[in-house]
Amino acid sequence: MANILLQHADVITLDVDGRVLRDADVAISGGMIVAVGAAPDDFQPDELADATGHIVLPGFFNAHTHSPMTLLRGYAEDLPLGRWLEERIWPAEAGLTADDVYWGALLAAAEMIRGGTVGFADHYFHMDRVAQAVLASGLRANLAWCAFGSDEGEMGASLADIARFTEEWQGQGDGRIRTMLGPHSPYTCSPQFLARTAAVAARLGVGIHIHVAETQEQVDSSVARYGLTPVEVLDRNGVLDGPVLAAHGIYLSEPDQAILAARGATVVQCPTCHMKLGMGVTPVPALYARGVNVALGTDGPASNNALSMLQEARHAALIQKLVALDPAALAGDLPLRLATQNGARGLGFGLSGEIRAGCHADLVLIAGDTPRLQPQHDLVATVLYAAESGDISDVMVAGRWLMRQRRLLTLDEERILHEARRRGLRLAGGPAASAGEPTRRYADATFPKGEGFFDREPHST
Ligand SMILES: [Zn+2]
Repeated sequence: MANILLQHADVITLDVDGRVLRDADVAISGGMIVAVGAAPDDFQPDELADATGHIVLPGFFNAHTHSPMTLLRGYAEDLPLGRWLEERIWPAEAGLTADDVYWGALLAAAEMIRGGTVGFADHYFHMDRVAQAVLASGLRANLAWCAFGSDEGEMGASLADIARFTEEWQGQGDGRIRTMLGPHSPYTCSPQFLARTAAVAARLGVGIHIHVAETQEQVDSSVARYGLTPVEVLDRNGVLDGPVLAAHGIYLSEPDQAILAARGATVVQCPTCHMKLGMGVTPVPALYARGVNVALGTDGPASNNALSMLQEARHAALIQKLVALDPAALAGDLPLRLATQNGARGLGFGLSGEIRAGCHADLVLIAGDTPRLQPQHDLVATVLYAAESGDISDVMVAGRWLMRQRRLLTLDEERILHEARRRGLRLAGGPAASAGEPTRRYADATFPKGEGFFDREPHST
């Protein structure tokens, strides 16, 4: 691994002191940051990178998404959740092949790299194909194979198969791939299935990535059915005993928040998706005050419709300022910390998310010499409230460039775009040009009507 010296950069470190350095150097060796500010006298760079006019900051971590759903971007708009899923998304997903998942994940990887994302937490199907896309892209990822399970049994991949995937891919890609179990949610998985999943997670020593408390309706029906909120159902069944990525977490009672804090869970707000689907606002300030690790995610590209963590950081700040009617809500660099180090922590990449000696060289450069990014009185505010994905010029993961001067180095973008168009078209019912048998995941699954949690859509946002 080369010794790289970034020179003359303006650096947003997001370290414990929130240091912002002007005209600084960042020395990288063996995939790790070894110095920030000035390179050690004995540092022998193999590569000098002139970062004059560029802002360097930690790369973004998208803590909740469904990356292959890029193929369904813009396919279903302005519909309420139920109709969105039943009338549009599920029928289209029924024709999804493992190859589609691979190319959809590659399209997401290309978009994420271009947007400065260095790691993401994915929750979907055919995750072995997503893992292959992660390996090819050079990104970091925490992968969870989405599972549904009722008292009648499991739908889609079995827990045993999922456990095999989880064990096999843990730590692959020089540690860039981590895995978790992915029961879909407490309203599509029975308490018994959740308890079984938690037991498998404990045996494998992995965490759990799950949707929770997305709508008031979900909370009401959980209380009606179990006398417990969704968070309490998870807690009673051991789901919160290990590391947890709790996606959405909008309708959380005070006791729910206390449980999540006590269990050390990560709550992942998806600001853009929550606004787009009219879902609600995750109580970020309250959770933060309790010491809950709050991270950000885009959710899937069919309900966002972008994979831009710059956008999520900005929306996370603006939502709280609006809700509180307080411009000082989520002030300073906090939104950037939610979108970087808090996500990294939640995904199990504890040495990412800061520009500091001893951290992984997972960083991005923003080209600052453009009208919307000048003048730069406050670098953090410039990035948070003015920069756009297109301003990201260079991306490095584990000391390796994935994008250099806006040219992707690990992915064949032209091929990916071609495949994405072709497959997206087919999925939307256009001319069938597919390779491989559709999964027919839902077509022949029988939902026992009136049984409660299957009244709900099995695959929500
Ligand atoms: Zn989701």
